[in-house]
Amino acid sequence: MKYEAVIGLECHAQLLTNSKLFCSCSTRFGDAPNLNTCPVCLGMPGALPVLNRVAVLMAVKAALGLNCRVNRESQWSRKNYFYPDLPKGYQISQYDRPLAEHGRIGRVGVQRIHMEEDAGKSLHEGFPESNKYTFLDFNRSGVPLIEIVSDPDIRSSEEAHDYLSRLKQILEYLDVCDGNMEEGSLRCDANVSVRPEGRKELGTRTELKNINSFRFVQKAIDFEVQRQIDVVESGGRVIQETRLWNSVDERTVSMRSKEEAHDYRYFPDPDLPLLTIDEETILTAQRSMSELPEPRRARFVQEYALSEYDAGVLTSTRALADFFEETARACGQAKSTANWMMGDLLRFFKERSMDMKDLSDSPIRPKALAEMIARIGDGTISGKIAKTVFDEMCATGKAPAAIIKEKGLVQISDAGEIERVVDEIMANNAPSVAQYRSGKSGLLGFFVGQVMKATGGRANPQTVNDILRKRLAG
Ligand SMILES: [Zn+2]
Repeated sequence: MKYEAVIGLECHAQLLTNSKLFCSCSTRFGDAPNLNTCPVCLGMPGALPVLNRVAVLMAVKAALGLNCRVNRESQWSRKNYFYPDLPKGYQISQYDRPLAEHGRIGRVGVQRIHMEEDAGKSLHEGFPESNKYTFLDFNRSGVPLIEIVSDPDIRSSEEAHDYLSRLKQILEYLDVCDGNMEEGSLRCDANVSVRPEGRKELGTRTELKNINSFRFVQKAIDFEVQRQIDVVESGGRVIQETRLWNSVDERTVSMRSKEEAHDYRYFPDPDLPLLTIDEETILTAQRSMSELPEPRRARFVQEYALSEYDAGVLTSTRALADFFEETARACGQAKSTANWMMGDLLRFFKERSMDMKDLSDSPIRPKALAEMIARIGDGTISGKIAKTVFDEMCATGKAPAAIIKEKGLVQISDAGEIERVVDEIMANNAPSVAQYRSGKSGLLGFFVGQVMKATGGRANPQTVNDILRKRLAG
């Protein structure tokens, strides 16, 4: 029997606001525990929430970027559950009336996007195990999140990976989330079930939690799909439950039976009015949205005649795409810019472990790269010498003009000067000249090499070729 996996993803993305969702405490990561707290985010009785407008605007941007319909009215609800790092005993979230619905990432539907506040963090520390204490840090309590729930349209771990990559890229392009899975600013749970191929109704699903990298998402899904198939094949039944991904043993383990929505006793938060999104807010969000990865990739192919592959790499982050466009516009040579970036520049960035999302501290700036490419174009330096210039730019951060001048790298295109070198080499290699003239035309490369050696690689290759052919022909 062949089986089909049915997968839906629920992703939490932390919005890049400076302050929390319902109070003015800072959202800075890495501060001393409990530094960024107040009566509101500590859940003191009687403290009242005040909504952060910027968070709403970012959530609307994300919703539009994921092709969702933004609801004019949505509602804050209390999601009740007990957890030590949730002092109120409930989380302010959205339930039956979410911010946005009916979106799409590629061919996968986005069922809904809702806003909610994050909980605090429990830290279990101490050694040995019997001497462990649990510490509570409320810096994260009240930090704004959006939860993006996909439709169960995903059929394999590769598709899940693709969906996540696109989601992360779009959120980064929109500047609403930094997409850092390791720091927890993008978190992903997966709902997984299997069914015999061709069957309509869904199998019982499990929810996988605790997956903190793209690679683990793929591994966790692969493991879980196979586990469920094994259960079904051996005559058992899959139980609806929450399972944790254990990245050390590379398996999922049962954590608890899955809660149903009614377990949370959702009800509208009486402290908060309906969230209304007016036309003005949507327009403001639209105006502040940058061009998204997919249209930008298509435009790069169209406007700069790049291959699909090159356009994909060069739009992988907004910073890289901006770098490309700034350079290409400054030198007017898109193809060369793409070649230099795809090869030498990306290699350099990788060697330096530069963050491709933020290239602002790159020692090579678009203006300098454009200048170097322009010097190749106008014949000042050869493509080969440009490699030397480029390496020097990487090492020193100096401008190409200064490097070319200091190191005397200007290309020799003067025919008279090259002819003198050619004549000298021919005089010193009379036997080779004779061989060439008797038909060994392959020796041309030898002569080109000699001329290049004599000129320190600075002779214009085209001119060298032309002169050599003429002279050697006799
Ligand atoms: Zn606070």
